[in-house]
Amino acid sequence: ARFRFINQQLYTSSSREAAQLFRSDPEAFQIYHRGFAQQVGRWPENPVHRIIRYLRRRPASLVVADFGCGDCKIASSVKNKVHSFDLVPLSPLVTVCDMAKVPLAAESVDVAVFCLALMGTNLQEILEEANRVLKLGGTLMVAEVASRFEDIRAFVNAMAQLGFKSISK
Ligand code: SAH
Repeated sequence: ARFRFINQQLYTSSSREAAQLFRSDPEAFQIYHRGFAQQVGRWPENPVHRIIRYLRRRPASLVVADFGCGDCKIASSVKNKVHSFDLVPLSPLVTVCDMAKVPLAAESVDVAVFCLALMGTNLQEILEEANRVLKLGGTLMVAEVASRFEDIRAFVNAMAQLGFKSISK
């Protein structure tokens, strides 16, 4: 129940409020992550494994940014240079920051990933940040549960307005 409550909070507050929540209540983060792992463990497929398979098929020279990396499954599973960002460090590979403002230079990554991490009501700001750090022609990968979207077509259209062309859905 606490996991569901925190999950709902993360999806209905801004990324700054989420950062504040975890700063003021570190236990909330532990509870959230235990609940998250349990929930994903019941699914037929964890999308992070699909993203890992995709990266392994592409050149290892590609630089990756993992927004909302959790326990850094991507960084620990591929040869690529992976910048892993989260609010709290579940692993030493994490750079702690709000994903609306990551410490990367503009046009410095080839692949940006949001795996079950497109949270926060300031989505536009977060996606603009991904756009900023991506090289021209880079790839953005988003994995989310379908119920998160009121209208997937509207989401894809909004992404186009932010400068992303849909390659596959
Ligand atoms: N991508 C990982 C974890 C998904 S859980 C995986 O698929 O296994 C969602 C993660 O996003 C959590 O670890 C949460 O702390 C993080 N997160 C949520 N809001 C964030 C924000 N504003 N900045 C950075 N990380 C955030």
